[in-house]
Amino acid sequence: MKLVVVGAAGRMGQTLIRVIQETPGVKLHAAVEREGSPFIGKDAGELAGAGFLGVPVTSDPLEAFLHAEGVLDFTSPAGSVEFAGLAAQARIVHVIGTTGCTEADEEKFAAAARHARVVKSGNMSLGVNLLGVLVEQAAKALPAAGWDIEVLEMHHKHKVDAPSGTALLLGQAAAKGRDIDLKTQSVRVRDGHTGAREAGTIGFATLRGGSVIGEHSVILAGEGELVTLSHSALDRSIFARGAVAAAIWARTEKPGFYSMLDVLGLSH
Ligand code: NAD
Repeated sequence: MKLVVVGAAGRMGQTLIRVIQETPGVKLHAAVEREGSPFIGKDAGELAGAGFLGVPVTSDPLEAFLHAEGVLDFTSPAGSVEFAGLAAQARIVHVIGTTGCTEADEEKFAAAARHARVVKSGNMSLGVNLLGVLVEQAAKALPAAGWDIEVLEMHHKHKVDAPSGTALLLGQAAAKGRDIDLKTQSVRVRDGHTGAREAGTIGFATLRGGSVIGEHSVILAGEGELVTLSHSALDRSIFARGAVAAAIWARTEKPGFYSMLDVLGLSH
């Protein structure tokens, strides 16, 4: 399967290039970076530490998508919206890992999914998607009256959005278990004299610093006991392997909007 990596010089872009090299059945077809990036024209393999691949980084996605079968996209919300339109025109698979997207962006992805096979997830790892299933079960089993849910996350100092896409994915899983609307029931910030905690809400807390790849805990706090479900990302390749698996899976699917739960067979 011929894959394009967009955002090729980024932390995830470089990891994707290395993982594609190690994975049978997939091939790096093209690598795209922003106009004006110092990496344009450089060999994508050398940039990623995977050795010379003969694939120069380009700023022209249109040319890059020509004859490609899938796009792996961990870039920025504006970039992903642009790539969704182009992938839909080219009728190819679009795997979106970008986080921090707005509702308007999500509507554009859904529109693109009428023509393309789109797989989007705030976290592409097997572990976090399994954790989401367990969080949903726990939130359902432990009554809202006596059990408060808090989602805690920590990431490296360069991360630009908060809470993380993964924290929101886990919050969404808890909200599903409780059968509540996360949008109206979440507490994203606490500061000053906040008053007592409102029962039934889902709280988020964000830490940033150093080089942490991704730490997430969902704490279910009851009277006299805590249940903590957590995940630690030790290497970015877990997300890249998930993204490549998603592209291979989606290749034979109908156009539509899919999540990693579909790819991993964890949806119900
Ligand atoms: P990064 O800043 O290291 O890399 C992003 C790259 O994308 C940069 O090189 C940038 O130049 C490029 N880019 C941005 N807009 C572009 C455009 N329009 N055209 C071409 N290139 C463009 O960031 P990162 O740590 O690699 O993370 C990227 C995104 O992926 C973030 O939103 C992050 O939260 C998300 N992420 C998701 C998962 C997941 O499993 N879903 C895992 C890790 C990171």
